[in-house]
Amino acid sequence: MFSARHLSRFRFHTRIRFGVLVCGLVVVAPDASAQTPSLRVTIKLRTGGALDGLVVEHSDAGLVIAHDGTPYAFAWQALEPVSAIAARRELMALSLGSDKANPFDAHDYYDLGSFALQIDASNQAIVFFRAAQVRDPALAGDIDVALATYRQRSKGARKSAAAQARGNTATEAQNTGVAADPDATSFASLLSAEPTTPLVREQVETIYRTFGETVRNVMGKKVTLIETEHFLIWTDWHQRHRDMLANVSESMYRSLCRQFGVDERENIFLAKCPVFCWKSKRQFVKFARHFDGHDGTNAIGYTRSIERNGHVHVVLLRQGSTRIDLDRFAATLVHEGTHAFLHRLHAPRLIPHWINEGLAEMMSERVLGDRSVAGEEASLLARVHVRYDWPIADLLNSTGPIGVEQYGLACSVVSYLQQLGGDRLAKMIRALKSGLSLADALAQNFDGLTLERLESDWRDWIKKTDPILNAPKPEDARLPWHD
Ligand SMILES: [Zn+2]
Repeated sequence: MFSARHLSRFRFHTRIRFGVLVCGLVVVAPDASAQTPSLRVTIKLRTGGALDGLVVEHSDAGLVIAHDGTPYAFAWQALEPVSAIAARRELMALSLGSDKANPFDAHDYYDLGSFALQIDASNQAIVFFRAAQVRDPALAGDIDVALATYRQRSKGARKSAAAQARGNTATEAQNTGVAADPDATSFASLLSAEPTTPLVREQVETIYRTFGETVRNVMGKKVTLIETEHFLIWTDWHQRHRDMLANVSESMYRSLCRQFGVDERENIFLAKCPVFCWKSKRQFVKFARHFDGHDGTNAIGYTRSIERNGHVHVVLLRQGSTRIDLDRFAATLVHEGTHAFLHRLHAPRLIPHWINEGLAEMMSERVLGDRSVAGEEASLLARVHVRYDWPIADLLNSTGPIGVEQYGLACSVVSYLQQLGGDRLAKMIRALKSGLSLADALAQNFDGLTLERLESDWRDWIKKTDPILNAPKPEDARLPWHD
């Protein structure tokens, strides 16, 4: 275990399961001035935790809730299915503006059924489809198509997992015969100054493998090592879920190299990057406390970096085994893996947290596409900030850790910089790593851009590109707080 003095030199980037943090933004609830009805909901998250608040935005992608003056965005997939369906149902009823006990017609039930399929609640979908078909038998054909498409998608997801498993070039090895050092309970005590030569890198890799043996001693003999070109992944997962680990890690590595102009053959890590993936909260918390002196209770993943010796490792928790659970895990892997990569890139200097988190979310969307909800949550948050003119200067000027509810906003602003030029963004990160302030690094690489102008340019960009802000009503007009 570490003393407080040690801890102060370690950095943790923790992806919080759910957290209520203050960001200094006062949300003016849209119904306060407009006197229009709006909805207060309590939602439950798949990762645990609940939140209540006023719905200030919703779309097919998700919803934004104002809680204690702070907006929180959630993709529908992030919510417990029962909770998601209840909220969606109430929002639909509200938008229909009817006093009837049951305002839904056949098409509304059909929409609810399709929505349930979107969040993998197929039993609930069938209930809604039945209600739709009773009211309008002509919908039978559409319902068949929706169910067939859903089954095809589920089958496709299973197939591609199997194909990835077959094409998986990663080797799996059980570490045997390596003498474990009983005192070697932390990477901090294992490594001294940062090694630079290939020989020393090899020694570090040996130290890592020995450490893996210690992990097996503490965490159980079921822990297996999955080795890829750039990662040493220790996990207690069952075989059928393990194959994704190597594939997602290496796709992420390639993507990060392209983003930051690093040669893929180069190894950015000290040796291979150690990653620890646990299938239960109990194991995750045990590892976090035992090896990192970190209380993992409220987290689903974290990256730990030690500036003195250049070491970095990633620890992750998988909650559940459904398609949505695995996708969420993959997104956390890419998020934390991006932090690990960024820590090693150029120099270990810390960059402003909002940029770090924004990049991590952007990479998650880039690597995983539809499997990640980072892009959807970023769009929702960006939209409410632009729609209601909520300022983002506090975020842009912040240097310390940001709340998990601000990740989407950070992602949106970083994505704005990315579309101005990925090479410019990469150069800006290099400048930050060399010790330049954000204001200087930004100005130097984006034609004298100031933080103030960044906010207004970003706002204009969202106004121009957000499909819902630009949509000439129908669907949009159903929102109760619109004229
Ligand atoms: Zn993070």
